[in-house]
Amino acid sequence: MSNVNAVRSLVVVGGGTAGWMSAAAFAKALGGSVQIRLVESDEIGIIGVGEASIPNLTEFNRALGVDEDEFLRATQGSFKMGIEFVNWGAVGERYIHGFGRVGQPEDTVPFHQFWLRMARQGKVRPLGEYSINTAAPREARFMRARPDMPGSALAEIAHAYHFDASLYARFLRQYAEQRGVRRTEGKVSSVEQHENGHIAALRMESGERIAGDFFIDCTGMRALLIGQTLKAGYEDWSHWLPCDRAIAVPCERMDPLLPMTRSTAHSAGWQWRIPLQHRTGNGHVYSSRFMEAQDAEAILMAGLDGKPTAAPRHLSFRTGRAGRFWIGNCVAVGLSSGFLEPLESTSIHLIHMAVARILEFFPNAGFDATDIDEYNALTREEFENVRDFLVLHYKLTRRDDSPFWNYCRQMEVPERLARKMALFASNGRVYRRSDELFAESSWLQVMVGQGLMPRGHHPFADQPDEAEVLAYLENVRQVVGKCVQVMPSHAEFIARHCAARPAATVATPQPA
Ligand SMILES: Cc1cc2nc3c(=O)[nH]c(=O)nc-3n(C[C@H](O)[C@H](O)[C@H](O)COP(=O)(O)OP(=O)(O)OC[C@H]3O[C@@H](n4cnc5c(N)ncnc54)[C@H](O)[C@@H]3O)c2cc1C
Repeated sequence: MSNVNAVRSLVVVGGGTAGWMSAAAFAKALGGSVQIRLVESDEIGIIGVGEASIPNLTEFNRALGVDEDEFLRATQGSFKMGIEFVNWGAVGERYIHGFGRVGQPEDTVPFHQFWLRMARQGKVRPLGEYSINTAAPREARFMRARPDMPGSALAEIAHAYHFDASLYARFLRQYAEQRGVRRTEGKVSSVEQHENGHIAALRMESGERIAGDFFIDCTGMRALLIGQTLKAGYEDWSHWLPCDRAIAVPCERMDPLLPMTRSTAHSAGWQWRIPLQHRTGNGHVYSSRFMEAQDAEAILMAGLDGKPTAAPRHLSFRTGRAGRFWIGNCVAVGLSSGFLEPLESTSIHLIHMAVARILEFFPNAGFDATDIDEYNALTREEFENVRDFLVLHYKLTRRDDSPFWNYCRQMEVPERLARKMALFASNGRVYRRSDELFAESSWLQVMVGQGLMPRGHHPFADQPDEAEVLAYLENVRQVVGKCVQVMPSHAEFIARHCAARPAATVATPQPA
């Protein structure tokens, strides 16, 4: 029996990463049951800077039925095993936040508890030597996990991607259009609402009227529907995440091709380095309260490791989130829903999660308020979880060489984060609620990497005698080291499996 109350038309407004990820996923999941239109303006363009991801994007590709190698060829992509943080804890220090496990699978006591016991006596190597995801990128080596080798560190490799943001949007556009998504180019000049406030239609500058049952706002920081039309409000988190400007510039690719992003802290922010096949993406994220734009640009240009290939581009943002993400018949996805700054490459993941959650809460044309409230509560929680992990990096600095770092070191942090830090500082415990994005190993690596060493450790880690613990730790380290040596270089791996075609032409993904 057909549902007379069904949503029949869905309009995605915006054609950046958020717009095309949404359109592609909806087209795949909804088949032909809902008409999907996407509206984007070439004149406004896309932000075009989101180029690093976290491992969950592999699941998004899998859900779409996209072949990983094809995706990397089409987007000049490379692999990412983690992020190297330079000068964050203190100037001169560096550590890698690697994806995946640290040490051995847990029995009763997490691996790191044994490491902490011996660390206090100065009898361990740096934590990064006990994980394949941190040991391999240091040597520019990469391979995909070998799940057929259980027990080996090679089975534990976790990866994400770096890719060219414009090519990614183009890739997804082809995918979506092949599945029936209709694209309209042009600028939305006004938004028509029904009496109950729901969105009725978009008025285009061309005069065209685009009506729909359900609207996805992917208009980036403009937040044309959720903010400007529906007045969702904005919760400002800049007191916790004080960077509000970025300058982006690409430069020539330099070897070795590292399978990791690098984040180098400067005096009022930090600089990203994202290695792609055809170029390196760079950017300086900084706080305009503590640094002038021309100084930030000079620092960025001085920190490039290749010749710049375009002029630097200046961007502004305000960290925080929309007051509400879903109002009536409109949901915000992507930058229109908020932005937490790019430190841990979480924005594209939040797009993925929003799309998955919209599908889970897919409405009928009645738009049930209870469902919408739950969607908003879950998304709020997700933003707060990510926020706390990002704030940790700023708070946990020992730097006192600039007003910016003094501010960050001394700022009050969200209460939940303060508790997490206190818990770790006592006996090295990391507690992850089931819906939190970042695993225990992520918190561990950042806390230890930035110099937070607990006062104690789990008492069970004291049960084996010292020689046994030392042998266990050393065995793990050696196994990781040997596995790294059998891995090919990242550049070799890409050349063998997913080297981009010379002009980075976009392949035509076949409908699954
Ligand atoms: C400095 C910086 C670095 C970042 N780095 C990362 C990273 O490494 N990893 C990560 O995951 N994320 C990163 N992000 C976030 C990432 O860039 C975004 O989440 C992602 O690109 C999605 O953007 P979007 O599609 O929401 O917006 P946009 O790309 O801005 O797209 C907005 C779309 O809306 C359209 N539009 C707007 N107004 C109208 C109108 N009136 N009529 C018609 N069309 C309209 C535009 O034409 C465009 O198509 C970064 C962000 C910044 C600012």
